[in-house]
Amino acid sequence: AACIAGVHKDRLAAFAEAEAKAYARARPKAAEALRNGAGHYLSGVPMHWMADWPMPHLPLVSHAKGSVIQDIDGHRLDDFCLGDTGSMFGHSPAPVAKAIRDQATKGLTYMLPTEAALEAGALLTERFGAFKWQIATTATDANRFALRVARAITNRPKVLVFNGCYHGTVDEAMVTLDQGRTIARPGLMGQFADLSQSAICVEFNDLTAVEAALQTGQIAAILTEPVMTNSCMVLPTPGFHQGLRELTRKYNALLIIDETHTLSSGLGGYTATHGLQPDIFVVGKCVAGGLPTAVWGLTAPTAEAYAKANANRPAGHSGMGTTLSANPLQFAALKANLAEVMTAKAYNHMEKGAKALAAGLSKSIAKHGAPWHVVRVGARVEFICAPGPLTNGSEAAHAHQPQLEAALHTGLINRGSLIAPFHNMMLVSPVTSPAQINRLIRNFDAILTQLFS
Ligand code: PMP
Repeated sequence: AACIAGVHKDRLAAFAEAEAKAYARARPKAAEALRNGAGHYLSGVPMHWMADWPMPHLPLVSHAKGSVIQDIDGHRLDDFCLGDTGSMFGHSPAPVAKAIRDQATKGLTYMLPTEAALEAGALLTERFGAFKWQIATTATDANRFALRVARAITNRPKVLVFNGCYHGTVDEAMVTLDQGRTIARPGLMGQFADLSQSAICVEFNDLTAVEAALQTGQIAAILTEPVMTNSCMVLPTPGFHQGLRELTRKYNALLIIDETHTLSSGLGGYTATHGLQPDIFVVGKCVAGGLPTAVWGLTAPTAEAYAKANANRPAGHSGMGTTLSANPLQFAALKANLAEVMTAKAYNHMEKGAKALAAGLSKSIAKHGAPWHVVRVGARVEFICAPGPLTNGSEAAHAHQPQLEAALHTGLINRGSLIAPFHNMMLVSPVTSPAQINRLIRNFDAILTQLFS
């Protein structure tokens, strides 16, 4: 009890205090600007989760390019957070920036497609497979619409999701397991509807529980990530995905694969890299190089079933939409990103760098005898302050060490490396250099030396 994840509590407290002080001391301009300007925002931040970063106050970014982000106090950080995946291909990739510049003077939103829209459609199929595509602006929306389609096709009420999942602010997926029962997550703001009416939650890697849920006959679809990237990082056990596919076929439910984070796996995402066969494929965040865009696609048979459901509904709102989606700026960026940025060459670089990063962190963990581990999914690396491997969301919830992780994150920033907040995730972009990776490993090791020696 005197330790958190192997680190003595007194030592952690002293480290956290020193790092917080060092951070604040180095950012007087941001502190002053925030004092003057943040009050116009609700809770002092333009997006509520920004208040959850662990530092004494936020930095203000002056600019970012490639794999470096710079703040107004002049600190250049190696960016491994990369907008937590929105900028996984680097900040402002040149072809995307050019496409945005070219479109910028030709109109930003029309309610009508462009020729680039058609080219982007062909590129989506080339990259991800033969799906019939729709464009949304956020992965949250794409998942919401995919769920509507699944319900319309199957005429069933519920989605099956895994405990600890995150698919954006999709109401139905905001459930958790409480002693085997599906309940709404306790932290939800203003939750009114009973989410157990629209979802069943089971543990990842538990095909027995999946089958029991499907046997109720109420499941329209399973919505899952290939890897649970939002609960530490939980890998599928061998045969799990094959089991999901076989069981969904057996019980006539759809399989929705959300690739928003696992696009890190390789060209075409985890689906292409590992041969998954979703009925609906969803990806957002970085698919258009950082411009807000998400896509979702239906296989041909799913599209046929959708057409039938669509033909049989009264005219009027479908529950799917958003006016600014499928705008010409998105198509320009999407086309440029798919054709020129998200390439096999880029993925080779990402894979190689992430492999080196994972190896370096693992080596440091072993050297210090920390009871921690590292998991990697292509360009996505996570260190977890608990022994591994983790097999489901409940185990991941126990592995999470917010107090320790907060101190580590601030310590890394003070040493020039930015990693994703709220967990310990690092992305290697096509422009991340070996020097940046080595610096992150050195910084991590220096912190572990302080915490463990
Ligand atoms: N799917 C997954 C797997 C995610 O991790 C997230 C966001 N972290 C989303 C969907 C939602 O993306 P957005 O917040 O851009 O809507």
